Amino acid sequence: MAFENIIKFIRELYNQPEGFIPLHAPVFNGNEKRYLDECIDTTFVSSVGKFVDKFEEEIAKFTGATKAVSCVNGTNALHLALMLVGVERDTEVITQPLTFIATANAISYCGAKPVFLDVDMDTMGLSPESLRKWLEENVSLGQSNSLPTNRITGKRITACVPMHTFGHPCRIDEIVDICNEFNIPVVEDAAESLGSYYKGKHTGTFGKVGVMSFNGNKILTTGGGGMLLFNDVELATRAKHLTTQAKVPHLWEFNHDAIGYNYRMPNINAALGLAQLELLPKFLQSKRKIAERYEQFFSSHHRIIASSHQQITFVSEPSNSNSNYWLNCILFNSKEERNAFLKYSNDNGVMTRPTWTLMNELPMFANCQTDELKISKDIADRLVNLPSSAMHK
Ligand SMILES: *Cc1c(COP(=O)(O)O)cnc(C)c1O
Repeated sequence: MAFENIIKFIRELYNQPEGFIPLHAPVFNGNEKRYLDECIDTTFVSSVGKFVDKFEEEIAKFTGATKAVSCVNGTNALHLALMLVGVERDTEVITQPLTFIATANAISYCGAKPVFLDVDMDTMGLSPESLRKWLEENVSLGQSNSLPTNRITGKRITACVPMHTFGHPCRIDEIVDICNEFNIPVVEDAAESLGSYYKGKHTGTFGKVGVMSFNGNKILTTGGGGMLLFNDVELATRAKHLTTQAKVPHLWEFNHDAIGYNYRMPNINAALGLAQLELLPKFLQSKRKIAERYEQFFSSHHRIIASSHQQITFVSEPSNSNSNYWLNCILFNSKEERNAFLKYSNDNGVMTRPTWTLMNELPMFANCQTDELKISKDIADRLVNLPSSAMHK
């Protein structure tokens, strides 16, 4: 059976003839222990310490953002980003339905409602064509510089959140241009795309705010953690203030000038992150090699796979971009074949996964406005994520 060949290939790739192969496992073979020891030895394990500042500086340097502000996780970084650009209760935020739940949840934390628009086939991220079409058909532009209003619901559109799916950059420059035309601020969900570039520029630096995640399954981990990326220094200063309970700096007095949040990243997490960031170039290299091997396998072994009438397409990085290949993706011909493969591989100890259930199909978001979502539905039916951990070297 052809599925067998795929499993055999993955086991060879990871040099693991038996046992469980996870989808994405972290690799710790740098300065992780040394930096963590330093936190404990100096007692700086919590929200004050040199690793937090250093990690923020190094992420800013790596991505080319003017300023980076760390958070406890990617979800609360998204929440804060949306508040910073002015998302309010009873407004609407445009995003894609093909995303992890955190994107839609963060919109809900602000009391806003998502509008789900379709993605492109090649990037799997928000489609500039879908965005323009929906805006032209559904919104009224207000006065100059004021937010547009959804003609159907009467609500203001306060942000647009494109996501760089599985690390593949979406057509972010076109999305930002369209949003600028309509006065809509862009928050880039770059949670999966650290190390991914679009037209030579790092993802997460195109919009007003970019958001990253360093959860355990991401390309780099801090245990749990997130980061906000800014070009606007004033907005970054505001972000730092809000993540630290909006406390007015003073040696002994406790004063707060707004409702703030305890969203700071602890020093031990930043220590882990800094050690991981030193390894990132190696991770990226390793992941690119893995992607190349998958791509080669799925094109050259087409014959073997096709013998059982299956056509499998490897999703390679879209044009104009350099992807981190966070999670490798293949597309089957049909949902039935896809599901059969998911069962076969997981039964045989190789972890594979379909994409997330589309957000608009979840009960909390079932009544949200959408466009046709033709491509999102197609991808959700046919996609499989393959094991993609970086190699230990
Ligand atoms: C991982 C992820 C997040 C949130 O990150 P956490 O750190 O797990 O809170 C947000 N959006 C997307 C698309 C993600 O994949």
